[in-house]
Amino acid sequence: MSSNKRLVIVGAGGSGMAAAVAALQSRPDIEVTIVERNCSFGGVTAISTGTLRACETSLQKAQALAGVTLADSLLQYLDITPGRQDLAMLQTYLEQSPRAIEWLQSLGCRLVWLSDFRHQIVPEGKGVPGGSGLTIVLHNKAIRLGVRFRYETRAISLVQKEGKIVGLEALEKDGEKVSLAAEAVILCDGGFWGAGKGAFTNNIPAHLKEVVILDEGYFYEGGAGDGARMAQAAGASIEDMDVLTYVSQQYVDAKGRLCNKVGSGSLWSDGAAIILNQNLQRFVNEDLCFAKESLTDGIASELVNRHEKWFWNILDLQSKNNTYRIRQAIEQGLIEEGFILTSDTLEGLAAEMKVSVDQLHLAISRYNRYFEQGLEKDLDLGRDLKRKGAHAINTPPYFAIRSGIKVGNTRGGIVADHQARVLDQHKNPIPGLYVAGSSMDCVKFDGMKWLNGTGLTNCVVWGRIAGENAASAVT
Ligand SMILES: Cc1cc2nc3c(=O)[nH]c(=O)nc-3n(C[C@H](O)[C@H](O)[C@H](O)COP(=O)(O)OP(=O)(O)OC[C@H]3O[C@@H](n4cnc5c(N)ncnc54)[C@H](O)[C@@H]3O)c2cc1C
Repeated sequence: MSSNKRLVIVGAGGSGMAAAVAALQSRPDIEVTIVERNCSFGGVTAISTGTLRACETSLQKAQALAGVTLADSLLQYLDITPGRQDLAMLQTYLEQSPRAIEWLQSLGCRLVWLSDFRHQIVPEGKGVPGGSGLTIVLHNKAIRLGVRFRYETRAISLVQKEGKIVGLEALEKDGEKVSLAAEAVILCDGGFWGAGKGAFTNNIPAHLKEVVILDEGYFYEGGAGDGARMAQAAGASIEDMDVLTYVSQQYVDAKGRLCNKVGSGSLWSDGAAIILNQNLQRFVNEDLCFAKESLTDGIASELVNRHEKWFWNILDLQSKNNTYRIRQAIEQGLIEEGFILTSDTLEGLAAEMKVSVDQLHLAISRYNRYFEQGLEKDLDLGRDLKRKGAHAINTPPYFAIRSGIKVGNTRGGIVADHQARVLDQHKNPIPGLYVAGSSMDCVKFDGMKWLNGTGLTNCVVWGRIAGENAASAVT
């Protein structure tokens, strides 16, 4: 097999295509091939919300926003997970984040800054999932630059010669094994997003085992840890596999089973629902989850502290009008399937929920009273009542949705340095091997605490770094 000026990338998701485009922009003379196990490009990136997290971009500067400097961002990350971040990696990532945004814009991606969130930027477009917008732009550019896409080809192992990566082996659709020679390989296989519950069972700490719901895997067949396994077999270091992501926003039914049909999103902030624990009391400021700049999952943390597996979201017509998520869930049949309970009266809703109507009334009227009084914040938990969409829950029909904490992914992965070179057990780069995106153990969080938008920014930042460095290793 001849590796003549060839770079091979595993995975046609956000990071793989960013790497391919960056590689050919810096080295138009090389051949870049992406092997993709699915029949089309996109990966998890295409089904993601599309939020990117960045500081010091021209979009933010145009708004004269305070608190979006690199130093502010650095403090924010360190504050969330003190003592865990690798400073050199974090600094590189933050420094590169505005360049990543500008680079996406230069490829034709129309991005807007989200007015509620200082650090968040999304692809423009109403009702279109943002992540697919990113992948289409990257794919178009990759095709124009001459990237070769080899679909339905699953990478299974790396080929090494005298310590250097010289290619990979893959299985084609018909089960035939093929060898692809390369002077460098970039692993962009998406980590463990599609791995399913079996992958994490052993990593869940004992105190959480009773509380969290194991995900069946996303409605997508993607990253199943192939990159990590291949890299490990080639001597790479894998870290933080026990750092799992907990998300407290999923529909569950009366038996506590997860609905994987739709991503529920933050019903309470978009739709301004209120959330109640199983004793029908508000127990956490609903703004804590995915709102403003804290963005840690305060609700998941609260549930864990209380050792409760699920909670209620209570919504009314206005909440439904506020967010497409609930309308989409209704259209998809979640009322019929028992994930959404509804009634024209609170009495009827309480009957559906099998709870005391007096207690339900009490919780809702206590909350509604703060609106009647014209308060800025509720006196129990400090929710911002002037926030866009916030309203009294008093317009039928009413809805009740159980939500639980889901664990579906790990933040851990392949250890790399700030040039996206994969490191071995002694922290030395493995020649010819690079990594980007969710496969990489880069910006570190602790599971309950993480910042929205880092996944996609990781794809673009590390995809570009890996692409350029791997291309320069091709002689
Ligand atoms: C519902 C949802 C919403 C999200 N929203 C956001 C958000 O708004 N902002 C944010 O920052 N992050 C978000 N994320 C996380 C973000 O989408 C991911 O971190 C990011 O897309 C990962 O990109 P990637 O390129 O690493 O992986 P992917 O996009 O999954 O690409 C990996 C590709 O590799 C392929 N592959 C895997 N194994 C092999 C193999 N052995 N051989 C060949 N190909 C292989 C896969 O099929 C896939 O196409 C969200 C995730 C989900 C699930």
